[in-house]
Amino acid sequence: MGCGCGNKNNKSTKGRIDPKKGFIQEPKKTSVNEVSLAATNRAKFEEKNKEPSILTKALTLGSAVANHVADGMSKCSKTELAIRLDICDKCPERKDTTCTKCGCLLTVKAGWKTATCPMDKWPALIEN
Ligand code: SF4
Repeated sequence: MGCGCGNKNNKSTKGRIDPKKGFIQEPKKTSVNEVSLAATNRAKFEEKNKEPSILTKALTLGSAVANHVADGMSKCSKTELAIRLDICDKCPERKDTTCTKCGCLLTVKAGWKTATCPMDKWPALIEN
């Protein structure tokens, strides 16, 4: 929108002049599409930052512990653990020391040979 001076690149703001207050800018009207887009973005943000429920965490932990115990509680070498944690460090699902996908404490989970990444970024280290 122009300001009336003929320059189409001039993006003037709508408003009015008040003799006492000076230029008063009209509030920007928000379209239905902008509100809808904001709601969609908010929903995506909340979904991405949502942690698993307590029940999901308990089931995941229970399964991981059962596999770990069945495997004789074998642990990774320091190198294997470092490689796994390096992958987690670069993962957007890592939040502080926890994986938001499974809810596990990464330094513990990544140290178990039978553990796996819920997004298949690192496998279990089980010998066949
Ligand atoms: S376990 Fe997998 S999903 Fe979770 S933070 Fe590590 S790499 Fe990411």
